[in-house]
Amino acid sequence: MSDDNAREAPGTVDPSGRSRYDQARYVRNGQYEPLLVEKDRTRVEIDESPLPEDLTRDDLELPDPSEPELVRHYTRLSQMVYGIDSGPYPLGSCTMKYNPKFTEDVASLPSALVHPDRSEESIQGTLEVLARLQEYLEVIGGMDAVTLQPPAGAAGEFVGIRVAAAYHEHTDEGQRDEVIIPESAHGTNFATAALGGYDVVSLPSDEGGRVDLEALEAALSENTAALMLTNPNTLGLFERDIETIAEMVHDAGGLLYYDGANLNALLGRARPGDMGFDVMHYNVHKTFATPHGGGGPGAGPVGVVSELAPFLPEPRVRNADGGYELFAPEHSIGHVHGYQGNWLVLVKAFAYIARVGDDGLTDSSAKAVLNANYLASQIEYDVPYGPFHHEFVASAGEQDAADVAKRMLDYGVHPPTTKWPEIVPEALMTEPTEIESKETLDQLAAAFNAVAEEGAEILESAPERTTARRIDQTSAARNPRLSWHALEEE
Ligand SMILES: *Cc1c(COP(=O)(O)O)cnc(C)c1O
Repeated sequence: MSDDNAREAPGTVDPSGRSRYDQARYVRNGQYEPLLVEKDRTRVEIDESPLPEDLTRDDLELPDPSEPELVRHYTRLSQMVYGIDSGPYPLGSCTMKYNPKFTEDVASLPSALVHPDRSEESIQGTLEVLARLQEYLEVIGGMDAVTLQPPAGAAGEFVGIRVAAAYHEHTDEGQRDEVIIPESAHGTNFATAALGGYDVVSLPSDEGGRVDLEALEAALSENTAALMLTNPNTLGLFERDIETIAEMVHDAGGLLYYDGANLNALLGRARPGDMGFDVMHYNVHKTFATPHGGGGPGAGPVGVVSELAPFLPEPRVRNADGGYELFAPEHSIGHVHGYQGNWLVLVKAFAYIARVGDDGLTDSSAKAVLNANYLASQIEYDVPYGPFHHEFVASAGEQDAADVAKRMLDYGVHPPTTKWPEIVPEALMTEPTEIESKETLDQLAAAFNAVAEEGAEILESAPERTTARRIDQTSAARNPRLSWHALEEE
């Protein structure tokens, strides 16, 4: 960690260097809020502590704000952050779907707070919820068995590929050492295959942005362990030849892996299992309205066809003699997570699916697709490819996609994912999700179109209206300033 960097990084909100205008401004509209430690502190005397004297401190200096000052402090802090509660969040591929508040209520129920070490008999309700979630996911994905254990989509990929590897070894096909992945795929697919011990064979896209069948034919061999596909793919395009693709992969003795990150485009309408996929993960935070990981707990359940079920991680949950029990599949690849997975995330996915039901899921995929296509039709940037499913990729053309993203913040909206997938130059990968109204989409389109007309000078100095300005992202990532003390020492 370099102190020089910490001092110079623009966008760090250092109160000492701010102009009078800036100081006046934060007072006016809460743009900058000092931390509590920066505020006036007074020595707080704790004379009535019930704790023994040698366990209490009397040298504590703490701010002593009045109630409205304290409320304002946290309100202003919340206003320095952009979140889904502030406005649209069209990060393509990440699916910043809304997490309904009621799922938080469900996860906060006292009865949801179950210690995982309790005996099976005493957590029958928990096990029933998990068993029913397994069933929901089986039906939704067209899979025969599901494990709820993996803690994220990427972890689900790894489990799925380990399960595929165990299957190949079990059937004396352990020589299969290649995984084929389209060049438009998410980086985690390549990482998963490599981490799983496979050589990655990269598959070029055809002119329409889909799997090139001739290239696939050439890539398949007796070394093929699996083809990993996202459908609709990361350009938002449905692989129309999916049945042919599945046949080709299976004829070569390989397995077909479904990256479920884009499942929200198909919910209630099409199922990976029916398309010929053998193994898939579900990103519950992208499809079933549970909070995005962001470093916190997530869940990436994995579904498989019956041939692969004996290899799933343990424990799984099943219905037995009118009750529920945990069991280890016959050739299980073992434990991939403590206990039954991230229960409080899973219970939210369960609550969401149970609440919206079949009609709600079908409605959500319809609106996700409608919103993406409507927004794509309203923006002035070039949008190659299409028609789209839940997301589209526009090109910023002569502009730098990262500048576009920064500038959009000034218009009060969150920008799309940028610069990926790389097959579209200066990509603006946009996914409005099903929750946004036409009014919000029009506002988003207006922001895109206003930025499209702006020159380099404005773009390169954006954002102007956010608390943190143009941040040196490389330095911020390489030399993070992790504590406030660095500033105090200056
Ligand atoms: C998000 C994403 C992943 C990884 O999922 P995480 O849950 O974030 O680990 C994999 N593939 C695609 C296409 C994605 O968008």
